[in-house]
Amino acid sequence: MSNYKSLSIATAVLDILPNPVLIKNASLEYVWINDAFERLFSVNRSDVVGKLDSDLFPNRQVAQCNGGDMRVLNHGEIDESVETVFEKSGLPKEMITRKSKLVISETEVYLVGVMHDITDVTRANEALVISETKLQEKAQELAVLASTDALTGCLNRRAFMDSAPAISENQFQSFALLLMDLDKFKSINDQYGHEIGDRTLQHFTNETKSQLLPSDKLYRYGGEEFVLLLDVGNQQEAAQRADQIRSHISNTPLIEDELSIDLSISIGLVFKDKGSSCNLDELLHSADECLYKAKDGGRDRVEMAAA
Ligand code: GH3
Ligand code: MG
Ligand code: MG
Repeated sequence: MSNYKSLSIATAVLDILPNPVLIKNASLEYVWINDAFERLFSVNRSDVVGKLDSDLFPNRQVAQCNGGDMRVLNHGEIDESVETVFEKSGLPKEMITRKSKLVISETEVYLVGVMHDITDVTRANEALVISETKLQEKAQELAVLASTDALTGCLNRRAFMDSAPAISENQFQSFALLLMDLDKFKSINDQYGHEIGDRTLQHFTNETKSQLLPSDKLYRYGGEEFVLLLDVGNQQEAAQRADQIRSHISNTPLIEDELSIDLSISIGLVFKDKGSSCNLDELLHSADECLYKAKDGGRDRVEMAAA
């Protein structure tokens, strides 16, 4: 086959390719482009030949296009890079461009490039990343909802149960476990109605939280029963903090319209020292016994035991 014939066939094949193809000389001037390249950038082959990228494209594109060209010509390595190119209309397109060095003779050195449009794949990947992020945010929101008590906004019993293994296994931390129960709460419901009863539970939660450190944790354990984990170093500190909370509650009535509703709490406290083994069920049992004593002893008081 003559050289002319093979060149014609090669040109015809390159022109039906959907991929833009370019050939530059060693000075990075365009020598040839195929039809797909003409379409992508709305240019004519005859206008492009002899030009540099800087003659043809806005500056922002030139830096990217030429980035790999010199590497290819100097080192002969195949270069593959993702570039954002802009159609004449200004529309961005994500293209992978693969370039290689073509040496015909010592004086005839060319750079051959083939581009592949990956705009759709890139957009689909971006959409996937956004969906995944949204999904993770939703899962996070659901996890928070699942561990939050709807009425009071504090952690719920399920959250306490979930964190029980971590609490039990941590031998290096001392803490106090408090079982807190509102005194004569039924009579608040009976006297003022269930809605005020609910408001009382919210009021109790907010006022208790106002007395807590960020490392303390308050859980609604049952109807009007709460578990509080106090981050304390010794039993005396635990007793002081528990009594401070008790006294704050009994000195802070719920003010609702014309009403001022006094409330008080009884607390069963058990202190777990650093290094001592801890079975949460036993701690709860022990705190419950103390709570019972506090109720029996007249309410509005703290009773304690050491683990
Ligand atoms: P004690 O001092 O012995 O603890 O007496 P108490 O009245 O607080 O205890 P009791 O167990 O007799 O009553 C608890 C009441 O708490 C009964 C129940 O209807 C009420 N309760 C439980 N959960 C809620 C709630 O979410 N909202 C309201 N309004 N009341 C609740
Ligand atoms: Mg009660
Ligand atoms: Mg109770």
